[in-house]
Amino acid sequence: MEPELYTACSADSERIKQSTYRAPVCYADKMVQKLSRLLFCIALLIATQPDARAENEVTVELFAARGPLQSLVLRGPFTIASKFAAPPEQRFVLQCEDGQLFLRSVSRTQTAAANNRKSMPIGQRAVIATSSPRGICIELPDGTTRHYRGNLLVAPKGTAVLSVKNKVHYDAYIASVIGSESLPGTPEEALKAQSVLVQTLMLRYHQGDILQDTTQTQAYSGADYERPEARRAYAATRAQKLMCNGRPVNIYFHSACSGRTSSSRLFAGKKPTMPCDTSVECSYCKNSPFWRKKAVKIPRRLYLRDFPDGAPSIESRDDAGRPLTVRYSNGHKESGYGYWLRIGQKLGWDKLPGTRFEIRDRGAVIELSSTGAGHGIGLCQWGARGLADEGLNYRAILRYYFPGSTVEAK
Ligand SMILES: [Zn+2]
Repeated sequence: MEPELYTACSADSERIKQSTYRAPVCYADKMVQKLSRLLFCIALLIATQPDARAENEVTVELFAARGPLQSLVLRGPFTIASKFAAPPEQRFVLQCEDGQLFLRSVSRTQTAAANNRKSMPIGQRAVIATSSPRGICIELPDGTTRHYRGNLLVAPKGTAVLSVKNKVHYDAYIASVIGSESLPGTPEEALKAQSVLVQTLMLRYHQGDILQDTTQTQAYSGADYERPEARRAYAATRAQKLMCNGRPVNIYFHSACSGRTSSSRLFAGKKPTMPCDTSVECSYCKNSPFWRKKAVKIPRRLYLRDFPDGAPSIESRDDAGRPLTVRYSNGHKESGYGYWLRIGQKLGWDKLPGTRFEIRDRGAVIELSSTGAGHGIGLCQWGARGLADEGLNYRAILRYYFPGSTVEAK
């Protein structure tokens, strides 16, 4: 009877119906199967239900551009899970030794030996919270402070380096990014335009993605940058995105274009596929400190130390006059944008602030000059200020820099 028993209990319902054999063990198996399916469905339902708390949170890696972080100075009040509560204003240093976190109280008057005696083991992970409405206070190496809402998640990265992440409410994050990416005094409509761009950019990320606090993702400097005007701009544009032919616009913005913006061809070298990604004239950034040309002369010897491929020359440019290709005297080539990035990284971002640059080989020196600031693609922030001052609302400002785009609630 073994085969029949097996057949009757198979998942083939027709054969189950036709089978005349109904052993008690078979019903038990069916019940177990049904129960398993029910439990599986319940588990699936729970797993696919949106977790409101998780969906409304963003995780941001802090100090991503600062290199390896050896220690973190915190000011009370804060708590570390149920292990420790720091009183207000007291300073503590969180450090990592051999993959373990240690916290010690510090004051400027205490000796290092006294400080070391107060070292307290925390374990391999610290979840830091605060009751302060301003957020968790972090002291930066220059003595200034920053505040972060939500929780800080600190863990060792290797044996002696810290990883610091901020788990923060989506709304607080967006308001801070709007403030961090704009200068104080930016007009209301320009801030609203920035708010729509920031929210559209967030469509690139998915739940669980870890963002960075640098301009690689979006600048995020914590609760101090949630300025009231940034919050108002976000409240007025909440859930609005910039769309082009039913798709989110490829969002780029920069400080000042100084005459004309570029399309994303400057990055990719290829013609953009989206009509709203294009170059537009812009004289509205005339009040920017980057409107006029900035030039720097670099001694040839120093230049060649950082750029051994030899003296550069510009081979091709885009419609806005920004170099697309740079050729070196040894025959190597590089994209104009790649060259601009390397100059910034090696010599400092103030040397060549804009991507519309010129190179002059003057023998003993290499002269570099540029107009504008930033990559020059998409919205010109100084131009948006100028357009807002002329009475344009945020929708018109966005349409100006992304022709054919529409602001939609998503
Ligand atoms: Zn401009």
